[in-house]
Amino acid sequence: MGGRYTPPDCRPRWKVAIIIPFRHRENHLKYWLHYLHPILRRQKIDYGIYIINQLGEDTFNRAKLLNVGYTEALKDAEYDCFIFSDVDLIPMDDRNLYHCYDQPRHFAIAMDKFGFRLPYAGYFGGVSGLSKKQFLKINGFPNEYWGWGGEDDDIYNRITLNGMKVSRPDVRIGRYRMIKHERDKHNEPNPQRFNKIQNTKNTMRKDGISSLTYRLVEVKKYPLYTNISVEIGKPPPRPFKG
Ligand code: BGC
Repeated sequence: MGGRYTPPDCRPRWKVAIIIPFRHRENHLKYWLHYLHPILRRQKIDYGIYIINQLGEDTFNRAKLLNVGYTEALKDAEYDCFIFSDVDLIPMDDRNLYHCYDQPRHFAIAMDKFGFRLPYAGYFGGVSGLSKKQFLKINGFPNEYWGWGGEDDDIYNRITLNGMKVSRPDVRIGRYRMIKHERDKHNEPNPQRFNKIQNTKNTMRKDGISSLTYRLVEVKKYPLYTNISVEIGKPPPRPFKG
């Protein structure tokens, strides 16, 4: 219930919360659940699935939803590992193990849409995982990236600025298929992202899990996942430039 599973025949090293930022992608979720539950069982992961649904039609904010997922999952169980996944990414190889590592982990390193390669060395998008300790060390994720892009680069900066290094699977193992889709509404590319990722060093201590605010509206447990619906606000008005 609620998308929780514990293997019956071993004692897993990690307790893993899988967090998926979400809005209007019901069809993708069906596929994701269909593929991932069997994979995670074969991997003998002790896990729970949390769908963090942004209510309303204001601009989407992926990283803030991930912070909400971290907070809400910890109200449910004592997780020590958090995997943050987009709803449209399906791993192709069972050996890409969904648990945590000595260093923050990037799982989705060889996606079909990027020709099964990293698009650039510092790419940290799609599917990533941090232990509770690693997550707290970087003050969680930024809350101020509204719209598409940049938030994963900011997270990458947080990791390296705090003396950690991203760990990755072998390129033959970290392969993914992305479910095809049109661009979402209300998730336009954020024109501020290029400036913002230059500034992570100055913003990460004040903007993060320490400054997270939101309104929890509903928690609902389904057999294959827990749905958490939240209001997370909207971007601040842009200062008028005359
Ligand atoms: C964006 C990232 C995105 C990547 C791959 C970058 O330019 O800043 O957020 O994940 O492109 O699409």
